[in-house]
Formats: sequence, C-alpha cells, structure tokens
Amino acid sequence: WAKAEGKRRWALFDSARTDREVARYELSAAMPGALRRGEFVLEYQPLVLCGGETVIGAEALVRWLHPRLGRLAPDRFVGLAEETGMIVPLGLWVLEEACRQGRRWRDLAGDAAPLISVNLAVRQAQEPALVDDVAAILERTGLEPAYLQLELTESALIGPGHEPLAALTKLAAMGVRIAIDDFGTGYSNLTYLRTLPVQAIKLAGSFVDGLRTPGRRPGHADLAGERMVATLVQLAHALDLTVTAEGVETQVQADRLRAVGCDSGQGFYYAPPGPPERITEMITSG
Ligand code: C2E
Ligand code: MG
Ligand code: MG
Ligand code: MG
Repeated sequence: WAKAEGKRRWALFDSARTDREVARYELSAAMPGALRRGEFVLEYQPLVLCGGETVIGAEALVRWLHPRLGRLAPDRFVGLAEETGMIVPLGLWVLEEACRQGRRWRDLAGDAAPLISVNLAVRQAQEPALVDDVAAILERTGLEPAYLQLELTESALIGPGHEPLAALTKLAAMGVRIAIDDFGTGYSNLTYLRTLPVQAIKLAGSFVDGLRTPGRRPGHADLAGERMVATLVQLAHALDLTVTAEGVETQVQADRLRAVGCDSGQGFYYAPPGPPERITEMITSG
C-alpha cells in the first residue's frame, strides 16, 4: 500500500515537473516570433539623485506582452533566453529601443536628460560582436556614448581567465559607462574593483533592506546595516565610483542613504518601473 501511495506521489510530482518543462519549452520556442511581432516592451525606472527629485538616469527593464499569458516579468524569460541564446537578439533589440528613447529625452531635455541604463546578460557580454554592435546602435540612434550605461553583474564582468572582459575596456574607452549591478551579491573579490573599467556600482537591495526600519527604535542590527552601507559608499568613492542604491522603498531608507553620502537611489519609493512617458513627465516638470 505504502509503495502504491509512493508511486502515485511520484507520478504526480513527475507530471507537475513535465508541465513546467513543457511551459518552459513553449516559452523558449515562442520567443523568436514574439520578438518579430513586437511583443516585448520596455519599462523605465528612474535613478534619482539622493536628497532631491532630480532624475539622473532611467533603467530599461524588459517585459513580454504574451498574447495568452499576459505581461511577463523578466525572471520568467530572461534566464531561458540566456540558455537558448535568444538573449543576444533580444538584448540588441532592448539596447536599440532604449538608446532611441534616450535620444528622444536628449532632444527634449538637453543636459537634463537622464542617462539610459541597460542590463547586459553574461552571454551578451561574451559575444564577440558586442563592441561593434553597441557602436552601430549608438550611431544609428544618435545617442552619445556618455548617455549610455551598461549594467553587468560581477560574474559577467570577469572573463574565463578571471581577467576583466576586453570588450568592456573598449566600451569604456568609447565613453560608455559601465556599472556593476546587484553589487555585493556575486563575485566578491574586491581587488577586481580596482582593475575593472567601471564607473558606477548599483548597491544590491539587500543592503538597503538592512537600513533602519520605520517605526522601530534603531537596534544593533540596524546600526550594523547602516555602517555597512556607509562603508561600501566610502569604498566606492575612494575608487572614484558613483553609487546607486537599489530597492529603495521607504522615506527612512532614502534619508539614511543621503546621510551616508550615497549618490543616487532607485526603487518603489521614488517610482516603480513604468512607461517612458512617466520619465518624460518627471524630467520636464520643474
Ligand atoms: P535588476 O537589473 O537588478 O533590476 C532591478 C529590479 O528590481 C527590477 O525587476 C525592478 O522592477 C525591481 N525593483 C525596482 N524597485 C524596487 C523596489 O523598491 N523593491 C524591490 N523589491 N524591487 C524593485 P524586474 O524588472 O522584474 O527585473 C528583474 C531582473 O531582470 C533585472 O534585475 C535584470 O537582472 C533582469 N532584466 C530586466 N530587463 C533586462 C534586459 O533587458 N536584459 C537583461 N539581460 N536582463 C534584464
Ligand atoms: Mg539592472
Ligand atoms: Mg540590480
Ligand atoms: Mg539582477
């Protein structure tokens, strides 16, 4: 009896797993067509100067408007796209669309235009054509390199022999800004901070979570969390890097970040990701 029961459970487990695999397969198979049909869209989330309302940047975040499944967040398909290699054409589409939007903001707001921050997956960073592709996109869209920032995670910045990827040095030499995304959650060999061609770090939201909780008296954990953020900001500044804090959700966090000298913040407290018109409103009002 127990054996039969066990078997049935396995059968259930297996069929759930198969369903998931089928769903993943269907999503990957649908991606090339979806890209051709224009089912991907970009939302933008502002990077805001600490202690004010000045929008200094906008991160492009991709969404898939799936005809049957609705609006899909990147965690549903970016990983899949990396596995199949679709991230390369999808990523180029993202880059071109974002640079085109960046150019529109330049025309509209001049020097007050936000820099455009675009995520690059490991697979994209390793693509031999990356530098030429980025140069061609900047040329076609007319966006100046200084208005483009590429966000890479720590692991994507390091080549197979643990050297910084040569492509990034070339991109930085072109004037494109390179930022380390989710800083502090990945490759934690700090000596690389000195050698990588980066201009900015984006401090992972988990550090911001450690800042003082509203409505609670500061305890030891909160103070330790705050000192940690303060120290990372100092370290970044010592290396001439600017710091954007990710996942800022409360006024208290925003205030503490300003107090410790963080340059800019990004998060639901300032604005969630949204259509480009929202950024347009923010940069043209006041
Ligand atoms: P990321 O680059 O670290 O982007 C920040 C993520 O945090 C976004 O999730 C954003 O919506 C979310 N977020 C913003 N403010 C807050 C906040 O206050 N609290 C919390 N808890 N979360 C906040 P999203 O849009 O779902 O993107 C997830 C990840 O998918 C991104 O993480 C990035 O790694 C990847 N991704 C998004 N777009 C692209 C793309 O075009 N290409 C590539 N390669 N990856 C992308
Ligand atoms: Mg990012
Ligand atoms: Mg991030
Ligand atoms: Mg991420």
